[in-house]
Amino acid sequence: MPPKSTPEMLAFRRRLTAWFRRRGRDLPWRRTRDPYQVLVSEFMLQQTQVSRVEVYYPRFLARYPTIHDLAAAEPAHVQEVWQGLGYYRRAANLHRLAQVVVAERAGLLPVDVDELRSLPGVGRYTAGAVATFAYEQATPAVDTNVGRVIRRAFHPKAKGSAGEKKLWTTGLRLQPRAGNAAWTFNQAIMELGAMVCTARIAHCPRCPVKSVCAMGKKVLRA
Ligand code: SF4
Repeated sequence: MPPKSTPEMLAFRRRLTAWFRRRGRDLPWRRTRDPYQVLVSEFMLQQTQVSRVEVYYPRFLARYPTIHDLAAAEPAHVQEVWQGLGYYRRAANLHRLAQVVVAERAGLLPVDVDELRSLPGVGRYTAGAVATFAYEQATPAVDTNVGRVIRRAFHPKAKGSAGEKKLWTTGLRLQPRAGNAAWTFNQAIMELGAMVCTARIAHCPRCPVKSVCAMGKKVLRA
C-alpha cells in the first residue's frame, strides 16, 4: 500500500478535477472506454501532437474497427494507414499486439497493469493509461507532461531514476479510489501538462492548482 495522500494532495486533486470538468477538451478518445480504441489512441499519441492524432485516429478505426480486424490485416496495409504519423515502429508493435491478443486472449485486452506491460510496445505509461482510461482503474500514467506537473508541484528537486520513482509514487498517492473519478483525475493532470503547465512555460497565474503547488506558490510570492 502506498502512503496515504496528504491534505495538499487532496486539495490538488479536487481543484484539478473541478477545472478539468469545466475546461477539459472534448477529444475523440475521451468519449470511449473501449479498450481497443483507447489503446490505439495511446499508441498514436506517443510523441505526436493531439491535432495530428485527431485526424489519423478516426481514419485508423474506420479501417480497423476491432482488434480482430487489425490482427487480420496485412502489415503493409497497416503501415499504409499509419503513413504520415511517423514513428512506424509503433504501427508494427500495435499490429503485433493485436495478433497476440487475438491468438492468446480471444481479443480481450488484459485489465491488469503487469499483464498489459507484457504486450508488444506497451511500457509502464501505456499500461497505466489503458488501465485507467479503458478500465477506470486508480493507477497512475506518468508520461512527460504528467511527470512535469508532479515534479513542479511536489518534487521540484527530483532527478534521475530515484526522482522518476518518486513521481510514480506521488502519481499513485494522488489517485482517487477508482471508477470515473480515477479516469477524470488522470485525464485532468494530462490536460494540465498539455495546456497550462507546459514544457516551455508554466502558466502559474492562471493555474487551478497554484495555491497547492510548490512552484506555483513560489511564483505567487515573487
Ligand atoms: S502552479 Fe505552475 S508549476 Fe504548478 S502545476 Fe500550475 S502551472 Fe505548473
